[in-house]
Amino acid sequence: MSQDTKNVVTRFAPSPTGVLHIGSVRTALYSWLYARQNKGKFILRIEDTDKERSKKEYEENILDGLSWLGITHDEFYRQSERGDVYKRHLEKLIADGVAYVSKEEPALEGQRSTVIRFKNPGRTVTFRDEARGDISFDTTELGDFVIAKDFESPLYHFAVVVDDFEMGVTHIIRGDDAISNTPRQILIQEAIGAPRPIYAHLPMILAPDKSKLSKRHGALAVTEYREEGYLPEAILNFVALMGWNPGNDQEIISLDEMIKLFTLEKIQKGGAVFNIDKLKWLNKHYLKLFSLEKAGEEILARFPETLKIKAHSEAKIFKKIVPIIIDHITSFGEVRALAEAGEYEYFFEDPAYLKEKLLWKDEQDSEVAIQKLKKIALLISNIDDVLFASEAIKSAVWDYATEAGRGSVLWPMRYALSGRDKSPDPFTLADILGKETTIRRINSAIKTLEE
Ligand code: GLU
Repeated sequence: MSQDTKNVVTRFAPSPTGVLHIGSVRTALYSWLYARQNKGKFILRIEDTDKERSKKEYEENILDGLSWLGITHDEFYRQSERGDVYKRHLEKLIADGVAYVSKEEPALEGQRSTVIRFKNPGRTVTFRDEARGDISFDTTELGDFVIAKDFESPLYHFAVVVDDFEMGVTHIIRGDDAISNTPRQILIQEAIGAPRPIYAHLPMILAPDKSKLSKRHGALAVTEYREEGYLPEAILNFVALMGWNPGNDQEIISLDEMIKLFTLEKIQKGGAVFNIDKLKWLNKHYLKLFSLEKAGEEILARFPETLKIKAHSEAKIFKKIVPIIIDHITSFGEVRALAEAGEYEYFFEDPAYLKEKLLWKDEQDSEVAIQKLKKIALLISNIDDVLFASEAIKSAVWDYATEAGRGSVLWPMRYALSGRDKSPDPFTLADILGKETTIRRINSAIKTLEE
């Protein structure tokens, strides 16, 4: 296969020895962006030459995560299915005299194994890294390194080089843990007659305290973020800016903008920092851009069964609480716990009251509270049915509340409507619940106080 360097070809080449992590997503995303920007090709290559550590479930996790994020590939390969290609190259290298079969010292008594070694010319290799500038390595001390255990079992460095060549990869964008692999890969490249691709190595992702990133800092597998209700847009935005920026301090960046603005030169040299608060902030941003209808579906999907049924039968109320729910979460995943803690129950069902909670802290006289609630019920019942909305409710009650003491009027009203220490303000609540329910709840709070 010939290589056409005019057409950009990038690849993401994960080993299926673990789940898709946020750091790998960045490698995939940058490679994908670069290909899309240049109307090139993006290849997904599963590097499963390590038969013991490679697992199908990890491959599935990687594919699943990428497709959820919308990082689509144009070609797909598995190294385990490409044995013939590596074999052909191994045979050629041996025929050319640049690789040889070597008998190894027995690892165990009675065993004698052979490997295929590369004849290392032992020179200094210099390559340009688009993110870091020129890098030089003296390869002498690598000696004649092993490139395959046998003709059927190529090692990682060899398979990578053969594949990048055969697949016409023009730009290798990958983590900087691969920098030290590059010189030996270049030697193999030269031996098989492959043109040198352009390299860009991405800085390591660190925790905010510059320590090694771990779960403790909120770094999860991509599928775990999905389960927690994070949005792909937020993850892509977050990952894009972890080690690259468009040349300004823009924080919100869409996929289309990334494709337009991405450059290898602007990849940071220094360690990129993982900040879970930033991801949360971004997620909240994208959450708010959701249509209420779609957000409603996401929320409903996380309601326990009984609440789901109530939400269905009280669709009007559910529709009104969607924006309130969104206001209080950073990801849809939080909805389940909030629902299970009873945060939404009272929108659909009259609450039970603790008598003492109906009393404002500075007004402990039940009689006074009863009179105030009666007055509110009256003011509310005077509001025209068609005008019953939070603004009208507020103006109906506000003057009286100001005159009689806002806390001592609005606290019992709010608690009567929600039965909870915390809830939206009483006008919003009355609006959501409707006139009839509002008055019914106020009356039942009065009854509780009278008991
Ligand atoms: N399979 C390698 C890894 O997962 C890929 C390195 C590369 O991109 O060349 O680390």
